[in-house]
Amino acid sequence: MSSDVVIVGAGFAGLTAAAAFAARGARVCVLESHPTFDPRFRGELIHPRGVRALEGLGLKAPLLRAGAVRVEGFAVSPGPGSAPLQLPYPQSAGEGLGIDHHAMVSALREAVAALPGVELRTSQRVDALLVESGRVRGVRTAQGHEVRAALTIGADGRASKVRTLLGFSPEQSLLSYTVAVGVEGPVLPVPAHGHVFLGAPGPVLAYPYGDGRVRMCIDVPWGAAKGKDALKQFVTTQYAEAVPEPLRSAMLRSLAERPLEGCANHAISTLECVAAGAALIGEAGGCSHPLTATGMTGATFDALLLASSVGEHGFGDEAVLHYQRERVAFVRLRESFTAALYEIFRAQDEGSAALQAGIFRYWQQGDRGRLASMGILSCEDLRLSPFVTEYTRVMGATAAELLRSALREKRPWTLPSRIASVAATGLRRLEQVFAHAAQGYWRKSSLSLAYPAPSRTDAGRALDAAA
Ligand SMILES: Cc1cc2nc3c(=O)[nH]c(=O)nc-3n(C[C@H](O)[C@H](O)[C@H](O)COP(=O)(O)OP(=O)(O)OC[C@H]3O[C@@H](n4cnc5c(N)ncnc54)[C@H](O)[C@@H]3O)c2cc1C
Repeated sequence: MSSDVVIVGAGFAGLTAAAAFAARGARVCVLESHPTFDPRFRGELIHPRGVRALEGLGLKAPLLRAGAVRVEGFAVSPGPGSAPLQLPYPQSAGEGLGIDHHAMVSALREAVAALPGVELRTSQRVDALLVESGRVRGVRTAQGHEVRAALTIGADGRASKVRTLLGFSPEQSLLSYTVAVGVEGPVLPVPAHGHVFLGAPGPVLAYPYGDGRVRMCIDVPWGAAKGKDALKQFVTTQYAEAVPEPLRSAMLRSLAERPLEGCANHAISTLECVAAGAALIGEAGGCSHPLTATGMTGATFDALLLASSVGEHGFGDEAVLHYQRERVAFVRLRESFTAALYEIFRAQDEGSAALQAGIFRYWQQGDRGRLASMGILSCEDLRLSPFVTEYTRVMGATAAELLRSALREKRPWTLPSRIASVAATGLRRLEQVFAHAAQGYWRKSSLSLAYPAPSRTDAGRALDAAA
């Protein structure tokens, strides 16, 4: 069969992209490998920017009908017994939503499959690309079906087959493990807010996700416990104190009574996300630690940007190049902010404690820091400069505070190694950002596109030669 667009993967990203292309009159075929949905635990909290995008595509109402509840911002607790500090979403941004992931995907599938021009086929695992004269012309599934299309979109998640078939080799690291616990009944310390509880071996993210339930995503350092029973035991003994009552008792009950759910957390980073006739969106185009809950909001950004690039430039190379160029800045900012926050929140050693104290002081000083952080976290503010400024302020103020306390206590001043390593990570990321700017990722309107896509090094060389 043939279509204008073939989308590989009917997860959140693939479904929003299908709606975005259908809204522009394109014929879209979506192929999903699972007969129902991917059973693994995935994201449930959508920031206001993502919700506005869904609303524009007519997909917010189906989510509300499927049980989505309002989220107004975040509340962060620095440690056991301490009051949470509130970080509201910018007022003009609107509301975020929390919803059970599988209920969300089911609702989106039903709504998207009913759109004119959209065909959704399940139990179709894409395992090959159709390539002619250096262009991707569609896909073939393991079940023997071929779909030809002017644009092939890889929306097949973090272990993307399409990304591999296109020849991209992203930077990947395994960060930690999320233990996901659903609890019924208890009210969060600040209603209708996402919460982050610190003071355990990793941060605990908790948010409402409908029907009076609270989801808790517990970040466990990789290798801290092996096997389900050991993981349950580790979380029970190491994290309970950081969680306030009555959430704590509900969490312990759920851990004791229910099968363990969870998944690995990765950071995957790829700058190249397009080839001739093909583009990656959502987690196929990279992902960060889930602490900042930005994956789905990022996926709506990708879907709208790619559809509008094609709307503006047609189905040729210009559209995917425009998409790649515009996307790089957004993705880099999200990756950098999430990595910085996770670095600060993930440990309890002296340097991490000083950085956590530094960031809380910064947020307590007034609205400015809170609003700037939430603007970046919720993807409302896509500029790099506020992130660099805020990051430098927190690092500088933390180092100054440590110096002041050393002087007060008349002891020699040493910078804890963790602060030095967090600063070095930040500098490395900034250096990458500037290197990409210098290579022209943010301004070039022509790269040589071909299939197989050039590797990162080759692409870098091609850019250098063209610059
Ligand atoms: C622990 C955890 C917590 C998270 N929390 C949040 C959060 O609170 N908020 C947030 O915004 N984001 C969160 N995320 C990220 C979020 O889950 C993703 O952004 C979201 O699922 C959208 O991803 P996607 O559609 O790109 O990929 P996926 O959700 O992985 O969907 C990919 C789809 O492609 C299908 N597929 C795969 N391979 C093939 C193939 N070869 N052929 C056909 N189909 C295929 C899969 O079956 C699946 O249906 C979290 C992630 C994790 C791991």
